[in-house]
Amino acid sequence: MKSFFIDLSRCIGCRGCQVACKQWHKLPAEKTANWGSYQNPRDLSFNTYKLVRFEDQVVNGKVEWLFFPEQCRHCIDAPCKMVGDMYDDKAILRDESTGAIIYTQRTKNLPFEEIKGACPYNIPRLNPKTKVISKCDMCLDRVENGMLPACVKTCPTGAMNFGEREDMLKLADTRLKEVKAEYPQAGLVDKDFVKVIYLSRFEPKLYYEFMYAENRPRNLMNRQQMLARMFRPFKEVIDSA
Ligand code: SF4
Ligand code: SF4
Ligand code: SF4
Repeated sequence: MKSFFIDLSRCIGCRGCQVACKQWHKLPAEKTANWGSYQNPRDLSFNTYKLVRFEDQVVNGKVEWLFFPEQCRHCIDAPCKMVGDMYDDKAILRDESTGAIIYTQRTKNLPFEEIKGACPYNIPRLNPKTKVISKCDMCLDRVENGMLPACVKTCPTGAMNFGEREDMLKLADTRLKEVKAEYPQAGLVDKDFVKVIYLSRFEPKLYYEFMYAENRPRNLMNRQQMLARMFRPFKEVIDSA
């Protein structure tokens, strides 16, 4: 199984990864307006799978400029896939060798709000014209051919890393020890649940509200709970109507 390790202590907010993602996937630019931030565009979209978020925060009396190169986390037990499978188990696929979670054209038959609501990281986006849902695909075409994902390949600082999960976990633990010496609040965000592991210098919520999944149990509903909700006893359905 593959994983990313994204070391935010090394990210300089250059947005090379964001541009490389667009370039590799031949995705068009977004129409944007100045909204008082270097973050551009303002949000992910069906045409933007990777977005470097910028946030100013005062931490321990010092202004910190925080950069968060956001993308799908390719969750180990992906809640979006669990929900998608209830409607069409070929719409969202899990690649066996890498563990990548892949959205196909068949996502146009899935209920978008439910798929998005299941994602603890607020990642899936809908193409309003085609109704296809999209997000980062781990650059599976590159990875299957022995290449690094485009965003990893282009990162000039070593913030983005990709490889076998065991190697990424080792690297993450080593870097965490080093970074903690200067930033005691540093941590590896949701590392046991995702294949995109971020090392944050500060509390994740300072970077972005959806950077971490903790405290969102409603979104981490397990399959049994979901099935129970789908197939409620008939009487219960009538009573709640
Ligand atoms: Fe699905 Fe969201 Fe996890 Fe990506 S981050 S695999 S979209 S649940
Ligand atoms: Fe984009 Fe590929 Fe990086 Fe995903 S892995 S964010 S698709 S460049
Ligand atoms: Fe940060 Fe690397 Fe992306 Fe530049 S390319 S924004 S340094 S992760």
